[in-house]
This record gives sequence, structure tokens and C-alpha cells, in this order.
Amino acid sequence: MFNSSEQFLKGTSAIVTGSTSGIGLAIAKVLAKNGANITLNGFGDKDEIEKERKMLEGEYKIKAIYSPADVSQPEAIQKMVADSRETFGRVDILINNAGIQFVAPIIEFPQEKWNAILNINLTSAFSAIKAVLPLMKEKNWGRIINIASAHGLVASAYKSAYVAAKHGLVGLTKVVALEMAETNITCNVICPGYVKTPLVDKQIAEQAKAHGIGEDQVVKEILLKTQPNKKFIKAEDIGAMAVFLCSSAGEAMTGEIISMDGGWTAQ
Ligand code: NAD
Repeated sequence: MFNSSEQFLKGTSAIVTGSTSGIGLAIAKVLAKNGANITLNGFGDKDEIEKERKMLEGEYKIKAIYSPADVSQPEAIQKMVADSRETFGRVDILINNAGIQFVAPIIEFPQEKWNAILNINLTSAFSAIKAVLPLMKEKNWGRIINIASAHGLVASAYKSAYVAAKHGLVGLTKVVALEMAETNITCNVICPGYVKTPLVDKQIAEQAKAHGIGEDQVVKEILLKTQPNKKFIKAEDIGAMAVFLCSSAGEAMTGEIISMDGGWTAQ
């Protein structure tokens, strides 16, 4: 049974990379609502981040810390994991969510953008998983959830680095699941379609201006062209899926690719 009685994660500790914005922040909130202590991570305005951190503590009666780790740096990830362990005494949940995008034809794709996307969207997950697994193995319990994309399963032109990194993240998930299969540590990957985050809001406004059309038209005819339900995925629904995977009902789910894409990859 999916038992997510309020605060069923009380006493646990969760690291959510890239949680100063969008999907990561939404996941952090849902985990906190269910009782997990949180390590926030990502870039942004210091005061805004502190406001979110305090909000999590006040609203959900948990403890939250902030790590400024740049996840393209393995040593910074190791420090984030060590700080989290020192503060909470444990790391039970890891959400690899930090990600960036860059769009260009492959012939023009800058090498440094390729390197940055591979580092931030894929290698960071490897480094974080490597750092948390010994701690999870100590307790013989853990939940690792990678946030890939529909682009972890299918491609779009001009997104070579992003598509390669997200396909890689799907592969990495399967390997970790197999290596941990006889423990109580699971590793799964969520593949969302378009989610309305501040990043996407910006794109909509820019496209509307560039094409001289309304924002609704941009959403239906350009952005959600590949997404049959023509609706954005809600970030908090991705958080709810993460919570489900952390519950006892999720214990047999490992190495799973969970699409939340409004039918995109059904085509
Ligand atoms: P966002 O830009 O709102 O958030 C990205 C987060 O990652 C921010 O907190 C940012 O500070 C952080 N980040 C970026 N580089 C970092 C680095 N080097 N070190 C640490 N943190 C860093 O984006 P989002 O839309 O919430 O995307 C979150 C994840 O979901 C990404 O992996 C993205 O690929 C994936 N995703 C997004 C969508 C979408 O439509 N928004 C769809 C599918 C998958």
C-alpha cells in the first residue's frame, strides 16, 4: 500500500541538486512536507535561497541546509555529501536534478557547452551516487532518483549534448539499480516532458515576441508540439512521484524509467 501518511520520511535526510529553482525546489518541498530534512543546492540570489530554506523549516518543521556546490566539480559534490552527513548524521535520499540546456546544430555546437552539459547533467550524478552509496549501504536503505527527460528516451534536433547526457543518465540508473539490487537501495529515473518552470516561462515570452504571436499559441504550437496532452507537467507531480518511490510501495521499483510526459514517448 502507498502509505504516505504525513511526515513518513521524518528523521531522514535528502539531498536535492539544483533545488534553488523549478523542479528541484518543488521536489524539495514535497520531500520536506513528508518529513525529510533537506540539503538544498544550486545557484541564485543569496537572499532568495535563504528565504526558501527558512520557508522549508518553518512550513514543514524540518531542518534544511544549503550547499553552494557547483555539481560540475566532483570535490564540491563530495563536500556537499559530507556536510549533509555531518548535519543530519545520514543521507537517505539523493535526487540528481541539476541540469542545464544549450541548443545549436551539432556542427556549431561549442565544445565547452558540450563539456558543461555532460558534466552538470550526467557526470554529477555519477559523482553524487558514488559519494552517497557508502552512507546508504551503512543503513541498508536508500533512494536515488535521477531526473532525466523525455530526451532521455527520444531525441530532438539541435540538442546533441542534452540528449546524450539524458540518455546516459537513463543508462547509469540501470547499472546502479543492478549493482544495488540485493540491498534496500533503489535507483530510478523520472523522464518528464515539458514542465512549467521559470526557465520555460522565459522561453515562452521570448518566443511570443520573436514570432509575434500570443503566449498560448507558443505553448500549443511550438513548445508542446511533441506533447500530445498539450499541457505542462506540474513540478509538484514530479515531487509526488519521488515521494512515492521513497515509500514502502516503491521498494520493488528499481532501474525503472518513469515517463511523466503527457504521451510524448507513446508516439
Ligand atoms: P531550472 O533552470 O529552473 O533549475 C535548474 C537548477 O539547477 C537550478 O537550481 C540551478 O541553479 C541548478 N544548477 C545549474 N547548474 C548547476 C551547477 N553547475 N551546480 C549546481 N546546481 C546547478 O530548470 P528545471 O526546469 O527545474 O530543470 C531541472 C531538471 O529537470 C534539469 O535536469 C532538466 O534537464 C530537467 N527537465 C526539465 C524539464 C522542463 O521542461 N523544465 C523537462 C524535462 C527535464
